[in-house]
Amino acid sequence: MALLQIAEPDLSGNPHQHNIAIGIDLGTTNSLVATVRSGEATVLVNHDGCKLIPSIVNYGKETQIGSQAATLRSTDPSNTIVSVKRFMGRSFADLDTTIRYPYKFVNSSGLIQIDTAQGVKNPVEVSADILRYLRNMAVEALGEEPTGVVITVPAYFDDAQRQATRQAGELAGLNVLRLLNEPTAAAIAYGLDSKNEGTFLVYDLGGGTLDVSILSLTKGVFEVLAVGGDTHLGGDDFDHRLSCYIMEKAGLSQLNDEDSAILLINAKKIKEQLSQSEKASFSVVLSTKRLVNFVITRTEYENLVRHLVQKTLLPVKKALRDAKLDKDQIDEVIMVGGSTRMLLVRQMVGELFGREPLTSINPDEVVAIGASIQADVLVGNKKDDWLLLDVTPLSLGVETMGGLVEKIIPRNSTLPIARAQDFTTYKDGQTAMTVHVVQGERELVKDCRSLAKFTLRGIPQMVAGQARIRITYQIDADGLLSVSAKEMMTGVTSSIEVKPSFGLSDEQIGAMLQESISNANHDMQVRLYQEAVVDAQALIDSVEKALYLDADLLTEEELSQINNAIMKLKITLAKAPDDYAQLTNKIKQQTDDLNQISSNFANRRMDKAIHHALSGRDINEVADKI
Ligand code: ADP
Ligand code: MG
Repeated sequence: MALLQIAEPDLSGNPHQHNIAIGIDLGTTNSLVATVRSGEATVLVNHDGCKLIPSIVNYGKETQIGSQAATLRSTDPSNTIVSVKRFMGRSFADLDTTIRYPYKFVNSSGLIQIDTAQGVKNPVEVSADILRYLRNMAVEALGEEPTGVVITVPAYFDDAQRQATRQAGELAGLNVLRLLNEPTAAAIAYGLDSKNEGTFLVYDLGGGTLDVSILSLTKGVFEVLAVGGDTHLGGDDFDHRLSCYIMEKAGLSQLNDEDSAILLINAKKIKEQLSQSEKASFSVVLSTKRLVNFVITRTEYENLVRHLVQKTLLPVKKALRDAKLDKDQIDEVIMVGGSTRMLLVRQMVGELFGREPLTSINPDEVVAIGASIQADVLVGNKKDDWLLLDVTPLSLGVETMGGLVEKIIPRNSTLPIARAQDFTTYKDGQTAMTVHVVQGERELVKDCRSLAKFTLRGIPQMVAGQARIRITYQIDADGLLSVSAKEMMTGVTSSIEVKPSFGLSDEQIGAMLQESISNANHDMQVRLYQEAVVDAQALIDSVEKALYLDADLLTEEELSQINNAIMKLKITLAKAPDDYAQLTNKIKQQTDDLNQISSNFANRRMDKAIHHALSGRDINEVADKI
């Protein structure tokens, strides 16, 4: 297998245009859209002047999105989809049966769909409606269609969930530049990417979920060290706790659905007020005509919910343990999510780390802001400021002759990346080539992870080693790998798309790396052995073919010398390798011998060919026969 050259395709776009880019935080509870204007990231508002758009869609007579849909939650629950993010990329079997949803779910070949007054909707369509709303907000605010968008996703989102989010963006007519992890977006918003190094913990307490992520930054590249959290712990739990307390205080027992909803809305309102003021109150008349007057101080509220905040600290400690870090090793703690406006949350998280968490950017806007900054860079508005955010956890390579791996993209390469390498055919007249894409650090295919295989057909018939097949590996910013193989003379191309990280946990990646380190020496020896075998076999093949055609050019003694050398080499090749290094040397020695012994023969064949050519035959035809 000859390696001819390495070429790197150009990734850069048009350098002179200023493009409109937006960042979208597609949240479980609320969604936001932001953009960078005159160098400053700003969150955009809708026609009502609202920045936070409830992630709610109502499919009643008309499609309503955001706060309008939110008002229909209690009157038209079965058509009002909330928290659709929880269903993204999930299968019907993943549905949490302990939760009583007000929807009519439809099992569509294992996927979740919801039957509404407007027909069956899947989570991607519902998310697309939210994204379309945000896109329209941007078009209205900016007077132009955005060139590209960055959408954020939780760090723990798997490939299916990411894929679904990307599809939703495309369905909404957006050009999705990349998906960005929410904690990474928050770190970017705080400008932490401009530091050279650091370890950051992102504590994101939203409406229904707690996400904890630990990021490490090295040379401008973020890596997620650990993720954790609680998918059913968030602001809603604080609302429930407070609403129960209100009932208790007001001496209310059983409430109908409408009154429960009224209390809950008021509980949420005063909870949010208590983040600003020491005292909050409301007075409301229930459907039963019962008047409820309620006053609460911040201290009273904090005592009521302290256990919930305490509960959020458990996943924080677990994430630290998972990342094998001590809390002193965290350089910054970033607060994200509307619920971190609660002073008690800031205080208790601060106490755990013995430092003030970062709160200067609005916690419910910080993710959208980071996404917009990233989008601005990706559309090419900030030329010198290329953000390097993700790296390939393991090397990606291709199988070559002898079951060996040729690494095309080394591990820890920053994304996006493209690398091309030229390969050739092994056999004369070979018209097809199988490209086997593997992932891992080991030298042999059998020790790596097989990702995909495809075949390039239609290679014109040529002598072994003459065809030039360019194999290109390209990983986009989301980690989606596309591999293509192109025969350079005819341009025939074949390609495939793969998710290189699919299904690999951090532990598995760690184990694969560990193995590669401990086996490095042995692997290298096996690799050298396999290479020697491939070279030897190729030489035997070509000499045997020459003998078949032109043995008459040799004396009997010469012929038996060559045959002997071939025989010796074949015997050595057939030996089971015990000491790889020793056997490799022997094969190499005998290959050299055969080469030398047959060199006169090769010269004579060349003379013969030239002679034929000079007698009026086509030189190309002759050359093909050599
Ligand atoms: P998500 O990421 O889940 O979409 P957000 O980050 O927008 O959610 O957070 C929504 C939650 O934040 C809600 O439970 C809301 O009540 C809570 N929240 C918003 N503002 C405040 C505030 N001032 N004080 C306390 N909680 C707040
Ligand atoms: Mg959020």
